[in-house]
Amino acid sequence: WKNAPPNLRAIAMLGASHGDRTFVIYQDERVTYDAWGRAVATLAHEFQAMGIGKGDRVALAMRNLPEWPVVFFAAVTIGAICVPLNAWWTGGELAYGLANSGTKLLVCDEERWERIAELRERCPELETVLVTRHEGELDRASRLEAILGSPGAYKDLPARTLPEVEILPEDDATIFYTSGTTGKPKGALGTHRNLCTNIMSSGFGAACAVLRRGEEIPLPQPRTTLTVIPLFHVTACSAGLMGAIAAGNTMIFMYRWDPVEAFQIIEREKVNSTGGVPTIAWQLLEHPERKNYDLSSIEAIAYGGAPAAPELVRRIHQEFGALPGSGWGMTETMATVTGHSSEDYLNRPDSCGPAVAVADLKIMSEDGTRELPTGEIGELWARGPMIVKGYWDNPEATAETFIDGWVRTGDLARLDEEGWCYIADRAKDMIIRGGENIYSSEVENVLYDHPAVTDAALVGLPHHQLGEEPAAVVHLAPGTSASESELQEWVAARLAKFKVPVKIAFSSETLPRNANGKILKKELSSFF
Ligand code: ATP
Ligand code: MG
Repeated sequence: WKNAPPNLRAIAMLGASHGDRTFVIYQDERVTYDAWGRAVATLAHEFQAMGIGKGDRVALAMRNLPEWPVVFFAAVTIGAICVPLNAWWTGGELAYGLANSGTKLLVCDEERWERIAELRERCPELETVLVTRHEGELDRASRLEAILGSPGAYKDLPARTLPEVEILPEDDATIFYTSGTTGKPKGALGTHRNLCTNIMSSGFGAACAVLRRGEEIPLPQPRTTLTVIPLFHVTACSAGLMGAIAAGNTMIFMYRWDPVEAFQIIEREKVNSTGGVPTIAWQLLEHPERKNYDLSSIEAIAYGGAPAAPELVRRIHQEFGALPGSGWGMTETMATVTGHSSEDYLNRPDSCGPAVAVADLKIMSEDGTRELPTGEIGELWARGPMIVKGYWDNPEATAETFIDGWVRTGDLARLDEEGWCYIADRAKDMIIRGGENIYSSEVENVLYDHPAVTDAALVGLPHHQLGEEPAAVVHLAPGTSASESELQEWVAARLAKFKVPVKIAFSSETLPRNANGKILKKELSSFF
């Protein structure tokens, strides 16, 4: 019973039982489930020998390499807390994550090792570092390079059981950092149960959809997914990685996102699903070379993490012949809290779906004292077994955000009569023009509907009388044109006058985004 699910030891054992099925493909490296299981057990014993135990933080800073799921499971199966750091962070940001989490051991790749070069002398957190993919001499321990850096050799490691450690569902498992869109990234402290919830809710959701169609639930068929978002974001880890291991799926990692390389991989490996964030789906759709590849194996393109224009849903279905899917979640919820796909999504393309079976949603007044009636926009609160305990080492933020088992999301949303959720804006981004609320996504979606617009963001400009006025930054598709007044008229024909952007700036590049596909609105002020 000690290792009964939901905990990540159970997931690791389930994964290893998939045997010779391919787990990870990265460039010319292929790792089977059995080989991965051997590497996890070997590294878990090594970690223990290094003195890593229950509750110790093991930071993980690397690209999506085959080593990533090895280090992650070696840490969590012995009860350590894995801290996946954002691999795109600068040296200073990495130092913040290491210090904030009180990391005892850092496992990183060559690039991160170089990036923290200046810090190595100053940071006590960097006492113990293991580096993978490193050529040449190291000034610190690299004893595990032979195991970590040669995924091709995992299969030759001895088959061992995991070290005996008792792990309960409520034990701490991970610290994932929020994206830092609205402030400094906060470390969300997740439990084993939190991380396993996604597997249950997605499996349950899929089964419900099949039953609704009056069909029998089929045995899961192994699928191949192209994982293009970084594993250090909860979605890729808790939905992508956990889901893959539960089902015995093959995951393909890319060195970096590149649409043409994605087309080549999809054709060669007969990939069944991909996605991650809306930007990725747009880039796959709009790339001129798409037509040169056989992408017929793609069955589903699903995404979340950022607003998706209804236009995207229709186009995925029509032009790709694939099932679109979307969901809402945040780092604090270990990924998916709402989700829907296929007909449900096509019928309500402006929604991010109903709550998954195990979650509850409610819409609260701004001050958090009153639940609002159906259909009204207010702050979204969520509850369920996926909600984390709180923020690591940040009791004030924890007390503000986690209240009686609910998380205050900071997102403004409404629910319809059947419980479908519609995200309107982040509370921090909502524009109030002379007392009238303007929700970014409503105006952005109208702009996206214009044939020339491929990227749009609404921001507030200060106004001495009105407080704020809406303005937009757009990026046009290559070879198209549209003037500021034409776009303003386009919006005016569809929305109330007070919502029409008073200024529209044109960006020659796509808009700046963080690694999770979210537009960095703070960086758009230079346009005005
Ligand atoms: P920080 O909390 O540090 O400011 P962040 O909120 O961007 O950063 P994440 O936890 O990665 O960090 O993102 C969660 C947020 O992403 C949600 O609160 C919401 O604003 C946005 N989001 C997620 N899914 C969707 C979706 N389907 N539609 C619209 N917005 C979404
Ligand atoms: Mg947030």
